[in-house]
Amino acid sequence: MAKKHSNKLDFDTGWHYDPAPESPELAKLKDSYDLFIDGKFVKPTSGKYFDTTSPSSQKILAKVAEADKRDVAKAVTAARKAYEGTWSRLRPSERGKYLFRIARVIQERSRELAVTESLDGGKPIRESRDIDLPLVAAHFFYHAGWADKLSYAFPGRKVGPLGVAGQIIPWNFPLLMAAWKIAPALATGNTVVIKPAETTPLTSLKLAEILQEVDLPPGVVNILTGAGSTGECIVRHPDVDKIAFTGSTEVGKLIRKTLAGTDKRLTLELGGKAANIVFEDAALDQAVEGIVNGIFFNQGHVCCAGSRLLVQESISEKLVRKLKDRMETLVVGDPLDKNTDIGAINSKEQLKKIQGYLKVGQREGAEIFQTSCPLPKRGNWCPPTLFLNASQSHRISQEEIFGPVLAIQTFRTVDEAIEKANNTPFGLSGGVWTDKGAKAFHVSERIKAGVVWNNTFNKFDPASPFGGYKESGFGREGGRHGLEAYLNISETGGNR
Ligand code: NAP
Ligand code: MG
Repeated sequence: MAKKHSNKLDFDTGWHYDPAPESPELAKLKDSYDLFIDGKFVKPTSGKYFDTTSPSSQKILAKVAEADKRDVAKAVTAARKAYEGTWSRLRPSERGKYLFRIARVIQERSRELAVTESLDGGKPIRESRDIDLPLVAAHFFYHAGWADKLSYAFPGRKVGPLGVAGQIIPWNFPLLMAAWKIAPALATGNTVVIKPAETTPLTSLKLAEILQEVDLPPGVVNILTGAGSTGECIVRHPDVDKIAFTGSTEVGKLIRKTLAGTDKRLTLELGGKAANIVFEDAALDQAVEGIVNGIFFNQGHVCCAGSRLLVQESISEKLVRKLKDRMETLVVGDPLDKNTDIGAINSKEQLKKIQGYLKVGQREGAEIFQTSCPLPKRGNWCPPTLFLNASQSHRISQEEIFGPVLAIQTFRTVDEAIEKANNTPFGLSGGVWTDKGAKAFHVSERIKAGVVWNNTFNKFDPASPFGGYKESGFGREGGRHGLEAYLNISETGGNR
């Protein structure tokens, strides 16, 4: 029997896996990163830098520049110049070629990027390698294909770019969110000023290196690292034509207030509280995998996470037993180890927020279950957690926790399941598990959410539009619908 290094137990053999870590060296990090403005790395006007750290080892990974209002102004000027002078005049097929090149270099450097993502953000290497990076490349490939076919996307209408897009992204899928924002903006002829989250700037900065490597014309994409105030400066800048934001509902509401009365276009991708609904006729083992993937994937740092489970009463006991058994096999630990299922919580603040909800859930009267997996001594960790007997009014059933915490409720009838699933302020995603096709369609049509998965969960494709209802935001990213957010579409077309 192999040595008991990790606690990953193979059910068939009873063996434990040895650690299989990727080397942090593969990230090839520099000590310090500047702002990417007008095709060059430049020092921040204030001269200020902040540390980005690893949420697992707690080590400082690099110093990163902090952009202020003056840097935002420089970046917007560069983006405007590039928009008017180069990018909007370029033949669409040429724009497409740049996007194809970016996609190919991302593929070539995917191991370096995946290791960087896991180091900086805490997600398991298995996910950054097998999910994030392939999707990042796929988004650039997909939008490269659209660049010279926009008139076919909107037959009978004329289309034109908006101008300069200001884009603000969160820390849960740093490079993937950058790809979701940058690829459609460039394909449609816009230029970009983008700000990654404070805790996960490194893959965006590596993307800047890639943009230099493919000779993207200067100013077409400007990447500004910094804090929330940097994002606010982008939102307020008068020469930005569109804001695309992914993040919390709280900041989304602030941005909407700021932009009220201006002619800036806005799309918001915000929080979620999705329910996986499991009917008694579902394939239970398959459902367990979907539930586990839905909430424990990426430590539950997923806006469309299946953070609620609605299970039909007749199978509730059996399903919860299977779920607990499966959870006991999950390994929490070093994000760079290929055996790890659940990595580090992204920041101390986020861990505190999750721990706060663990107390709230118990105070509210739900029964807590956590796995016995040992946690590393250093770093931010939360074991996979269930709340049994949650009720609809509990905060753990209503509010976004953004951690590996699942609230479980039961239901008896189809209508009750639909009503409970829709009874939150959010509407981003949902899951329906049943053997009956008619029931799947009936329920899916009544779930008020942008995406509803059937007998699967958390599957993404660049051709499929993604976005929310209610407090989950508005606008779509991906697919033909996602292009609309970056275009003026009219009978006559042209620029604004
Ligand atoms: P957040 O605090 O809203 O931050 C998101 C981004 O906005 C970060 O880059 C942040 O910068 C910046 N920001 C903060 N305050 C700002 C302001 N006043 N004006 C402009 N920008 C500002 O959210 P988060 O905690 O990073 O991310 C978690 C949230 O994102 C969750 O609620 C999750 O549901 C949501 N999310 C939604 C989707 C979706 O597609 N619907 C996808 C992923 C995440 P700093 O990092 O420097 O603070
Ligand atoms: Mg970090």
